[in-house]
Amino acid sequence: MSSGTAAVQLAIQGCSIGNGDEILVPSMTYVATFQAIKAAGAEPIACDIDEETCLIDLNDALSKISKRTKAIIPVHYTGGVGNLDELYSFASKYNLRIIEDAAHAFGTKYKGNLIGSIGDIVCFSFDGIKNITSGEGGCIVTSDSTVLENIKNARLLGVEKDSDNRYKNLRSWNFDVSNQGWRYHMSNIMAAIGIQQLKKFNKFADLRKQIATKYDQLLSSNQNIKFLNRDYNNVVPHIYVVRVKGLNDRDGLRRAMNKSGIEIGIHYTPNHFLSFFKSDQTNKLPITEKVYREIISLPIHPDINNGDIKNVISTLENLLPSYTDNAK
Ligand SMILES: *Cc1c(COP(=O)(O)O)cnc(C)c1O
Repeated sequence: MSSGTAAVQLAIQGCSIGNGDEILVPSMTYVATFQAIKAAGAEPIACDIDEETCLIDLNDALSKISKRTKAIIPVHYTGGVGNLDELYSFASKYNLRIIEDAAHAFGTKYKGNLIGSIGDIVCFSFDGIKNITSGEGGCIVTSDSTVLENIKNARLLGVEKDSDNRYKNLRSWNFDVSNQGWRYHMSNIMAAIGIQQLKKFNKFADLRKQIATKYDQLLSSNQNIKFLNRDYNNVVPHIYVVRVKGLNDRDGLRRAMNKSGIEIGIHYTPNHFLSFFKSDQTNKLPITEKVYREIISLPIHPDINNGDIKNVISTLENLLPSYTDNAK
């Protein structure tokens, strides 16, 4: 696919989900997930998260199921996947497709299996900042041959059965089109970058795990810091997010960190706060809103060394007292 966003959009379309249908999705995700649902013609139903895992709260999701609900899109936030067994039994009980937004979770394992090697439909992104990149790109993994056929056609302007031919350097001249299609295939140039990246992936994954583990260790005695529940034996972290208790001026903290040459991030502004998606003003998501006010992301990428890690933590710990109320 040309991007992770295109992957999520076509995964939905591939399941023949679209106009008039609703999809359960955590509000705490990048806007790409929500836009992909809209692009497929469906309606994103913003759900709350579980406070420990920061992944979709199935009790809240349950309360939002309607006759129109056709799918659930769990987002593997930071790389964590939570209890997938529970998620899949929930989906089968309520007859929902699962489209995993695994943009953060390339390399993460669940019970010994790589994410993407199990499950219903799994979408990855190979955007420039992800765990692995092809410059721009994405992919969809599924074992459902009908969905796969739909996606392959839709990826190349709806031209039926053309996608496989092109890989054989052939092309269909007499073809039919019976569905909306897009130009969402990955270019050869991007794929060439992706293939080289794949060879280095184990190294990248180990470095990301080591950096997150080191941050965890260095912050473990800090009373203001609350960690997301992540097991870095199995999770390859795409971002490193912590919650800061008593944080009263996040923008100030961010500017001060920036002055010291350290960029911190905020992943993410919840989607139900965004003008395009806040049609339902009654949909309050208390945990998402609480967690959102506390989150910061520390730098994590394979080029960070031990000195950088220590510098990030000491700078943060020196600044925190000025930007937090006393931790209780
Ligand atoms: C990056 C990302 C996407 C979209 O991927 P692109 O390749 O940038 O289109 C979707 N969902 C999440 C959670 C992401 O972080």
